[in-house]
Amino acid sequence: MAAAAARWRERVRQVLPDAALRRRFWDHHFDSAAASGAGLETGTQDLAIAAALDAAQAAQPRGAVWLIGAGPGDPDLLTLRALQLLQQCDVVLYDRLVSDAVLERVRRDAERVFVGKESGQHRITQARIHELLLHYAGRGLRVARLKGGDPLVFGRGGEEIAVLRAAGIPVTVVPGVTAALGAAAAAGIPLTHRGVSQSVTYVTAMGTAAEQLDWRALAAPLQTAVFYMGVAQLPRIVAALMAQGAPATRGAAVIERASLPGERVIAGSLADIATRAAAAAVQAPALLIVGDVVYRRSRE
Ligand code: SAH
Repeated sequence: MAAAAARWRERVRQVLPDAALRRRFWDHHFDSAAASGAGLETGTQDLAIAAALDAAQAAQPRGAVWLIGAGPGDPDLLTLRALQLLQQCDVVLYDRLVSDAVLERVRRDAERVFVGKESGQHRITQARIHELLLHYAGRGLRVARLKGGDPLVFGRGGEEIAVLRAAGIPVTVVPGVTAALGAAAAAGIPLTHRGVSQSVTYVTAMGTAAEQLDWRALAAPLQTAVFYMGVAQLPRIVAALMAQGAPATRGAAVIERASLPGERVIAGSLADIATRAAAAAVQAPALLIVGDVVYRRSRE
């Protein structure tokens, strides 16, 4: 029996010279009679090996990606599903806006890869992020792709999903609290309010995107516009809205670091919000809420 098992092992070594493949083959649980190889002809042994190898390959853990919203910063604003996945993943690819407090919730021995698009020299391109996602998932790992706020709101999540789907890698989206919601809650500003605002629009006014916006529509009354923005864009946004007829008295508030330590709310109107924000030396991340809902603010 022992001699038959030894012959069988030798045969497996011959048929599968690659050590990694052999390990996978042995790792896989197959029928113990076949495992002993006792009494099998060489040709039959090879068939048994092929069958077991197929089964082993089918049982291989397949890499997968979870596109996870990290929320605005406070880890208490993570969803339960996000938290569970962060504690199970093998590797996490995270953006600049993901807070340290959220990163602390990631499984201790998971690999952490920073893929923030810094404005400095070490600029990581979106194409490079796609490469890294394919690389880690292709190795069979469980990849958490962690993005600030919600991954599908100004997060380029759609592009990452498309790339992964094209490569046949399973991808699941886990929503997060987008910055607009975190900021509104922090400031106690209702985003809609009977008789004051009947709709809310999330706007990105970053870079060249600003030129393509319908400023006239954004300047119209009875609505709320939330601008995801770089702080430097604030004066231009205010000017563009007023040029399209938004009154100087319309409410406006800047929320800096919503839900994070040092959170600040600067409230005013279109007439003075840029000056107030400059005087307060507002830093990123910050966003702007425009609408008379700002006057319904419940927190000072
Ligand atoms: N996917 C993210 C948005 C990414 S765009 C989301 O759903 O929230 C980045 C912009 O979001 C920043 O420039 C800023 O305007 C806004 N932002 C993100 N986190 C913020 C925070 N904690 N406080 C205020 N603004 C924030």
